[in-house]
Amino acid sequence: MSVVNSVINSADAEKANVAKTGAEKVNLLGLDSEAMEAFFLGIGEKAFRGNQMMKWIHHLGHSDFSLMTNFSKSLRTHLAEVAEIRPPKVVHKEYSKDGTRKWVLEFTSGGRVETVFIPDKKRGTLCVSSQIGCSLDCTFCSTGKQGFQRDLTSAEIIGQVWIAQNSFGPIENAGDRPVTNVVMMGMGEPLLNFDNVVTAMKIMLADFGYGISKRRVTLSTSGVVPAIDRLSDQIDVSLAISLHAPNNALRNQLVPINRKFPLEELLPACQRFLEKFESNRRRITMEYVMLSGVNDSIEHARELAELLRDVPVKINLIPFNPFPGSEYRRSSNNAIRRFQAYLQDAGYIATVRSTRGDDIDAACGQLVGQVNDRTKRSERWQNKIQVDNQ
Ligand code: SAH
Ligand code: SF4
Repeated sequence: MSVVNSVINSADAEKANVAKTGAEKVNLLGLDSEAMEAFFLGIGEKAFRGNQMMKWIHHLGHSDFSLMTNFSKSLRTHLAEVAEIRPPKVVHKEYSKDGTRKWVLEFTSGGRVETVFIPDKKRGTLCVSSQIGCSLDCTFCSTGKQGFQRDLTSAEIIGQVWIAQNSFGPIENAGDRPVTNVVMMGMGEPLLNFDNVVTAMKIMLADFGYGISKRRVTLSTSGVVPAIDRLSDQIDVSLAISLHAPNNALRNQLVPINRKFPLEELLPACQRFLEKFESNRRRITMEYVMLSGVNDSIEHARELAELLRDVPVKINLIPFNPFPGSEYRRSSNNAIRRFQAYLQDAGYIATVRSTRGDDIDAACGQLVGQVNDRTKRSERWQNKIQVDNQ
């Protein structure tokens, strides 16, 4: 068995879900600190090489072993034989006047995702995808409408952060990190691609990875209850729940996974998640998409306030982003303000998600459902397509 195969078969590499090419090279981009150490041990090197490699990849943005000057020449040659650092390919990028950046990324093993960076005062939030498509078919979601294609590997998930971070140059010190927050709110249901998402989030948090604070990495889920419990066993990050309805009847329609894991199971899972991190954790974010005439009445707000009375939450109201073929309309600004005011009067923190990057269609939550479609459709888009590896 070759060294590479033995590494791939090791428990750590297995856990990190090592991405392989046809040539059986390990894609080091997707290894967390533990798996990176295991990789170096597996090729007869010292474990500390793992952190050195993490730094080259994630702090300095390198993908070329020959530039890694603290490795001997023979190690660099050997690395090039057994491993690679393979980020996704940027097939299109667009930088908006308001600082928002958007990339369409293509993966060697197939499929595309959009990744969006949204700056806001001192914060820079990156919206990251976990799957190509989604199997859960929420009725207001363009990703759901295109069905499920496949899970992204840990390298493909962290590759989105690598591309965004590198678009600003290397991380020289903590103050230079434009990506301060990551939200797993692009395409896909992260808890249905559990291992790869957890590995990628570990790299986001790692000192030799992106060094992002655990409060600033947010996993958003439609409510895969058993996986919420598993998540809190494995990693401490912030949790957002796509609630969208104040009762089972309406949630069954909008978020079909509610038929499997109804509110009376979902809300206790949220409680358990919070209890796990008792000392330092604050609130779960409840996301609530505002759909005109569907879930946006004062009666719905009243029911929501009642439902969430015992769970420490903040509520984020998301104006619906329409997409071609969608049957819903966005609630009016008045309806959204009324709904928000009702919740605030009832004692909740309730915010309205602002729509940013409108000039490049970068609204989060609406990502990619239409990438391919829109790539074909829009002349503006089509004319600007460029192949660029940065
Ligand atoms: N699958 C996960 C994460 C990806 S979706 C989840 O459902 O939570 C990220 C967020 O965008 C979710 O809250 C989702 O409900 C919301 N969303 C999806 N489609 C949307 C749309 N058309 N308009 C506004 N928000 C949308
Ligand atoms: Fe999937 Fe989330 Fe879209 Fe529902 S809202 S279909 S879970 S991506």
